[in-house]
Amino acid sequence: MSGFPEFNYLNQALHVESVALQHIAEEFGTPCYVYSRAALTAGYHEFENAFAQREHLICYAVKANSNIAILNLLARLGSGFDIVSGGELQRVIRAGGDPRKTVFSGVGKNSDELRMALAANILCFNVESLAELHLLNQLAGEMNRKAPVSLRVNPDVDAKTHPYISTGLKENKFGVPVAEAEKIYHARHQFPHIQFTGLDCHIGSQLTELNPFMQASEKMLNLLGQLQSQGHEIEHLDLGGGLGIRYADETPPSISDYVSALCACTAQVKQRLLIEPGRAMIGNAGLLLTRTEYLKHTPDRNFAVVDAAMNDLMRPSLYDAYHAILPVKQNNAETHDYQVVGPICETGDFLGHDRKLSLANGDLLAVMSAGAYGMSMSSNYNTRPRVAEVMVDGDAVHLIRQRETIEQLIAGEQLIP
Ligand SMILES: *Cc1c(COP(=O)(O)O)cnc(C)c1O
Repeated sequence: MSGFPEFNYLNQALHVESVALQHIAEEFGTPCYVYSRAALTAGYHEFENAFAQREHLICYAVKANSNIAILNLLARLGSGFDIVSGGELQRVIRAGGDPRKTVFSGVGKNSDELRMALAANILCFNVESLAELHLLNQLAGEMNRKAPVSLRVNPDVDAKTHPYISTGLKENKFGVPVAEAEKIYHARHQFPHIQFTGLDCHIGSQLTELNPFMQASEKMLNLLGQLQSQGHEIEHLDLGGGLGIRYADETPPSISDYVSALCACTAQVKQRLLIEPGRAMIGNAGLLLTRTEYLKHTPDRNFAVVDAAMNDLMRPSLYDAYHAILPVKQNNAETHDYQVVGPICETGDFLGHDRKLSLANGDLLAVMSAGAYGMSMSSNYNTRPRVAEVMVDGDAVHLIRQRETIEQLIAGEQLIP
C-alpha cells in the first residue's frame, strides 16, 4: 500500500491507476508530473455530494494547478473557478470554463485585469480594499456595466497553518476588517456601478482543523445578519478554500466532513454557499516522477541527487514542506538515510531530508502529494525547462503539457544593438 488511493504497488511496481510509472518515465521522460483523473474526479464528487440539497457552487482555486486539461475536466464536471489574475481567467475560458461560475480574488487586480473580467461577465469580484472598489466602480461605469461584488472580509482568526499561507489574521494583507466592510456596504450608494451580491472570506491554506473554519463562518454569519437587518440583499456567502490534505501524518477533516460542517454551521441562512478549494481537490491526485542521477556518500551524509529540483517543486524549499518520497520499484535491499536533493546551486534545493530508501543509480522515485502548488509554482531557475505533465485515465496516459524546450524558454529574450 502506498497510502494514496489510485497510486498503488502491483508486483512491487508503483502504478497510477492501471499504468506503471516506469512506463511513463520511458515514454515521457523525467522529471514529469503525473495526475490521476480518477482521483481528481473522486475529489470533485466528494465535495459535490456533501453539499446534498444545499444551493452551492464549487469554485476550484485555479492557482493550485492551472493546467487547462485539469480545468477542462473540472468544467465538464460542473465546477466553477476562483481566479487570482487575468491570465487565470484566460485559462478558464480557454479550458471551456464558465465565466458566470467564476469569482476573482486577489489584493492587486490591475485595471486591465478588472476590465477583462468585466467584459467576460464573471460571477463576482472578491474585492479586497476600498481603493480597489473605487477603481472597479469607475471602470464598470466607463464600460456601462454593473460589477457584482463580494467584499473579502478579514475575520481575524488564526488558521493554525504555516505563516506564509495564513491569510485571515488582521496583520495579513488580505481583505478588509469586519467593521470596515460594514461601513462600505452602508455606503453602497457611493458606488453606483457596483452591485453588492455576496460576502467572502478565505483564511488560509493547508488547514488541518475544522475549528478556524467554524470561527470564520460564525463571524461571517454575524456580519450577514447585521447587513440583512439593515436591508442589504446578499445572495451568496463565499467561505473560501483552505482545506488541508495529508502529506505526512496530518489528519485533516475529510472533504465530506468539512463541507457538512460548513452546511450545518450556516443552516439558518438561505444564501447560496460558495467554496474555493484548491489543494484538497488536486493535491493528492498528482505526483512528481524523478530519476536518481547520482548517489553520493560523504562521511556525514548520503545524498541522492535526482533530476527534479526546487524550481520544479518549490514547496520543500519555500515552506520546509514534507512530501512522501516512494520508490517506483520496491526491493528488499538494505536502506540508507538519504538527503534527496536536486541539481540546483542552492543548499535549499532539496525534496526531502533523511528518507530511508534503498537506491541504485538511475532508480525512479515518486514525490507524492504534488498535484497542488507543484507545477503552478514552478520556475525556470538555472535555465531548467519546465517539466512535462501527463494525466492517467485508467490504462491510458495523455500528455497534457509538453516538456518545455530551451528554445521556448529564451524565445522572448533579445540582444541590444
Ligand atoms: C489560494 C486560495 C484558495 C485555495 O486555497 P487552498 O488551500 O488550495 O484550498 C482559495 N481562495 C483564495 C482567495 C485563495 O487565495
